[in-house]
Amino acid sequence: MHTQVDSAREYPSPMGPLASLKWSQRFLEQTPGDEVSDGPSRQVPGACWSKVTPFAAPNPTIHLWSENIAETLGLSRGEDEVLAGGSVVEGMQPYAQRYGGHQFGNWAGQLGDGRAITLGEVLTPTGVLELQLKGAGHTPYSRFADGKAVLRSSIREFLCSEAMHHLGVPTTRALSLATTGESIVRDVMYNGNPSEEPGAVVCRVAPSFLRFGSFQIHSSTGDKETLKTLVEHTVTTHFPSHSCADDDGLIAWLSHIAEETALMVSHWMRVGFVHGVMNTDNMSIHSLTIDYGPYGWLEDYNPGWTPNTTDSSTRRYRYGQQPQIAAWNLARLLEAMVPLMETPERLHDVLTAYTDSFDHHHNKMWADKLGLDTFLETDEELIRNLNSLLQEVETDMTIFFRLLSSIESPDISALQSAFYDESTIPIQAWNDWLEAWWNRVDGQPNRERMLQANPKYVLRNWMAQLAIDAAEKGDYSVCESLLKLLENPYDEQPGHELEWFQKRPEWARHRIGCSMLSCSS
Ligand code: AMP
Ligand code: MG
Repeated sequence: MHTQVDSAREYPSPMGPLASLKWSQRFLEQTPGDEVSDGPSRQVPGACWSKVTPFAAPNPTIHLWSENIAETLGLSRGEDEVLAGGSVVEGMQPYAQRYGGHQFGNWAGQLGDGRAITLGEVLTPTGVLELQLKGAGHTPYSRFADGKAVLRSSIREFLCSEAMHHLGVPTTRALSLATTGESIVRDVMYNGNPSEEPGAVVCRVAPSFLRFGSFQIHSSTGDKETLKTLVEHTVTTHFPSHSCADDDGLIAWLSHIAEETALMVSHWMRVGFVHGVMNTDNMSIHSLTIDYGPYGWLEDYNPGWTPNTTDSSTRRYRYGQQPQIAAWNLARLLEAMVPLMETPERLHDVLTAYTDSFDHHHNKMWADKLGLDTFLETDEELIRNLNSLLQEVETDMTIFFRLLSSIESPDISALQSAFYDESTIPIQAWNDWLEAWWNRVDGQPNRERMLQANPKYVLRNWMAQLAIDAAEKGDYSVCESLLKLLENPYDEQPGHELEWFQKRPEWARHRIGCSMLSCSS
C-alpha cells in the first residue's frame, strides 16, 4: 500500500515564509496510505492516510494570527491563500489522516479527518510540528458532511487553544484563522433552523494529530501489521527516548502517555475546562487538549455540568467525570495494543499508572489552589467540604479561587462577588470552612502558588460569544483583545477587570453558544 503518488492537482508554489520552513513527510513515508488521492467518502482499509487537495477558498483572508506560535515556527503573517486552503507551497503534501474511535461509549468504526487536512510536518529546533487546516474541505473521511467549518466554531478553536496554552494546559495550538469568503449552511441546534454562516479555516499546530483512535482503527480490523508500523513511526518520531521493541518498552511508553493524560486532565479540572466530547478520536497520543468543539468553562461550580447539548441525557462528558472518562478512553487504547504484547495482562499496569498519576496531580492541584505547601491525607476532608459548599448556591469558580488567593482573614464577605445571589450565601458554613482552612495554613497560605494555580481570566463561554458576535459583523477587535488578555491569564490586568473578571451576565444564562452548544460547527 505504500505509495508516492502526488495529488492530482498542480499547485502554484509561492515563495514566501512558509516555503522557507523545513518541511518533511515522515508520516507519509513511514506508514501505509491510500492508493487513490481525493475522491468520494469511502472506507480505506489498511491505510493511515489519504492524500487530498484542500478546497480553494474564493476569498481567503487571515483575520487572527498567533504571534506566539508563529515565532516558534519562524513565520511571519501572510500567505492567506495557503492558510485558508487551496494553495500549497513547495514541501507540503496535504493529506487527511484515517482513524476510528469510540463515540459516547460506542465503537463508531472509521472516522478520520473529515474536515482536517495536514499540510505537512515542519522540522523545528525543538522537534517536529505538524501544520493542519481545519475546515478546508472534503476528504475521503468526510462521510455525509462537507469538510468545512464556520467562523463561530473556528473562533472558538483559535481563542481556546491559545488561552489554554497560556494557562499552562497541554494543548494543540492555533496559528491563524482565515475566512474563506464562502457561506456555509448549518443547523446550529439540529432543530430544523438552518442558516448561512461565514466559512473559516483555522491552521492548527501540534507535534502530530495522532489520536487514540488512530491506533484503534487497525486493531479493530485485525490489521496487526499496520498497527505495528504506526506504533513504530510514532515512537521513533515523537517519543525517541522510548522503545516499542518488546513488552517492557511498550508498557513504559504507554505508562508515559497515561501519566501525561492524567496531568492534562488535572489541568482541565484546575481551570474549570469541560472538553465536551471526550471520544477516543478526540484523545491526543501526545496528551494535548485537541478538537475544540462544544467545550465550555465552569462558571458556577457544578461538577455535573456539560456544555454539550448532544450529551444532555447522560452527561457522560460532564466536568466531574472527565478523570474517569480519560481512564476509560485509555483502556480502549490499551486494548488496541493487545496484538503487539506477548503478555497483554501487563497492560493493566498502565491503568494503575494513570490512577496513581492522576491522584498525585489532583492532590497537588488542590494543594496549589489552596496554598498548602504539601498535601496531607487529612486535607481530604477540607477539600470534600469545600466541594459541597461550592455547590450549595451558585458560586463562580474562577472568581472564588482568585479572591481566595488574596483574602486577608477568614471572612466570606471578602468573596461576596463570587456569588450569583449574595442574599443566599450560607455565611456561617462558609466562615467555618474558611476558619478551618486558615488554621490549616497558619494564616499564611502560599499566595504565590495560589496565584499561579487560580487564573484570573479564562475564556468564559459568553466572552467567546461576544467575540463571535462582533466578528460575524466584520469586527475582530474583541477577538484580538481576548487573545491579548488571555496571553497573561494569571496577571491582574486591572484595566480589564470590569469587563472580563465578571460572572456570567444574565443574557448568557440560556443563550445558544454560552450555556448550550452542539457539535454543529
Ligand atoms: P468531532 O465531533 O469534531 O470530533 O468530529 C467527529 C468526526 O466527524 C471526525 O471524523 C470529523 O472529522 C468529522 N466531521 C465533523 N464535522 C465535519 C464536517 N463539517 N465535515 C466533514 N467531517 C466532519
Ligand atoms: Mg474530532
